[in-house]
Amino acid sequence: MCGIVGLVGEIVVSDLIEGLEKLEYRGYDSAGVAFLRDSSLCVEKNKGRVASLKEKLSELLNERITLGIAHTRWATHGEPNDINAHPHTDCQSKLCVVHNGIIENFKELKKRLEEVGHRFGSDTDTEVIPHLIEEYYTTDLVEAVRKAVKLLEGSFAIAVIHVDHPDIIVGTRKGSPLILTVGNGVAGIASDVTPLLKYSKDMVFLEDGDIFCVSKGGFEVFDVVGRKKERKPTHIDWTYETAQKSGYKHYMLKEIFEEPSCVAATLSGRIKSAKVHLPEIEELQDLLASSKTLKVVACGTSSYAALSFKYFLENLSDVCVDVEVSSEFRYKRPNFDENTVLVAVSQSGETADTLESVRLAKSKGAKVLAITNVVGSTLMRESDHTLLLNAGPEISVAATKSYVTQLVLLYLLGLKIVELRDQWNERCTKLIDSLLRLPEVLDATLSRTEHIKEVALKYKDFQHFMYIGRGLGYPTALEGALKLKEISYIHATAYPAGELKHGPIALLGPEFPVFAIAPFDALYAKMKNNMIECKARKAKLVVLTSDDCEDVREIADDVLSVNSFSEQLYPVLMAPVIQLFAYYIADALGHDPDKPKNLAKSVTVE
Ligand code: GLU
Repeated sequence: MCGIVGLVGEIVVSDLIEGLEKLEYRGYDSAGVAFLRDSSLCVEKNKGRVASLKEKLSELLNERITLGIAHTRWATHGEPNDINAHPHTDCQSKLCVVHNGIIENFKELKKRLEEVGHRFGSDTDTEVIPHLIEEYYTTDLVEAVRKAVKLLEGSFAIAVIHVDHPDIIVGTRKGSPLILTVGNGVAGIASDVTPLLKYSKDMVFLEDGDIFCVSKGGFEVFDVVGRKKERKPTHIDWTYETAQKSGYKHYMLKEIFEEPSCVAATLSGRIKSAKVHLPEIEELQDLLASSKTLKVVACGTSSYAALSFKYFLENLSDVCVDVEVSSEFRYKRPNFDENTVLVAVSQSGETADTLESVRLAKSKGAKVLAITNVVGSTLMRESDHTLLLNAGPEISVAATKSYVTQLVLLYLLGLKIVELRDQWNERCTKLIDSLLRLPEVLDATLSRTEHIKEVALKYKDFQHFMYIGRGLGYPTALEGALKLKEISYIHATAYPAGELKHGPIALLGPEFPVFAIAPFDALYAKMKNNMIECKARKAKLVVLTSDDCEDVREIADDVLSVNSFSEQLYPVLMAPVIQLFAYYIADALGHDPDKPKNLAKSVTVE
């Protein structure tokens, strides 16, 4: 995820910067612009925020230009540094490109391009794009982009400018957003509508496969074989504030709704021929194939994703997964050695306790595999290997899309380990198939939002909540309780359902409702007994189940349900439900779920 802006018409350099500032929430590890000046390309870019780019360009900000593109990056390939920042140029510096997304086959393309003489300067996947366009360019930029795009695999939104075409921006999209507008004297493209609102409120939402050419006076759209396409503008009445959240009331809600596309990005390029493809961990293969134990450290929501991983992998293989909260792990006697793999999970990659755990593990010679969302984070730099979530920046303090993508990435890792240990079976092949269907099934969960909201609002005035689950439902219960308490400030606790009778059931009664995670899986019959026990104590009962569970309605006061699916994947499918349940309660109580009191997004203190 990143922000792209392109403007053509009567503009000054600072219009591009102003556009970037509005997109900085989409990525902020580096920023850059390119524009035409005296018939040559002027490219400025640097690591860090848009503000430092602005400072660098201070002399030029009021300069009149006719065309420019700009980018704020959220790195996926190559560290965040000046060289890897976008825009990227071809060998002759005649054209340049900004890109949002991932080019999955960039290695093959780069090799082919190098063989025919192209020289590369960065570590990004993006840089193959300008070189490919250069390869195809004769006089027609649209044609060259069209030919280049045919070879790209992955997800992308791209904008291109060329010195020989001082009045057009050409580009395309597939899987990443791009919006186009033509206003009075200025036309533009951007990753969301915010930078464009000042020019017009009529927006063309480009579709996958569209190749566009925009000029000051209008635009054309083609498909990949060059046929013209009709694209009509939509009039929007958004203010800047609502537009930044794509019309959602809070970032949290927006980020929950991004989960299907984020999961697609996490999976992108990682499943090939029905097996998991994780080249990042090639060097760990022998250890992962032979170690009896795998250690995992994480905090908060990440630790619940890690706990799901434990249930998932232990169920499919003979490996023992030892999950510990980082703040405990770091002070314990380190009973492991250089034959240990430690998986460290942290959305931000800056979680202090997790970093200290990593340092402890490394001091004993263990190999560290990081799972994080942030390229160039301390965790990534200090770990031996990294798997990236590719979820894009998460602005809301409450983890939502990062949790869902952690689950998916950990499951991929789990399946890889099963394969390495020669324990692959038919179930694993089915799981691969289900993982690929996840984005679509998550969409189906989200289509039930209105019902989730209705149920949530019935429970907003309770002071307590008990979440229960068994098996993989237990980490989901823990995460559900955490989500509720952190944003609604309602006291919520979670237990394995079988533990209720060892103490917590004493709390239950009409004032203390129960939220049961009870899909129709192998443990459903046991869960049903526990739910009946709760009802016998007159506790109100909300049950989160699957569509194939028929008799739950006889016990539950309220039923929330997801599509019937692979049992092991219910934690992913159910995540948006527990998140939305907490969100609507917090919102109804007048709390800002994006900024819960006493909390911060990245916990850099121990
Ligand atoms: N994959 C590209 C990079 O790492 C683009 C990332 C983005 O969308 O910001 O530079």
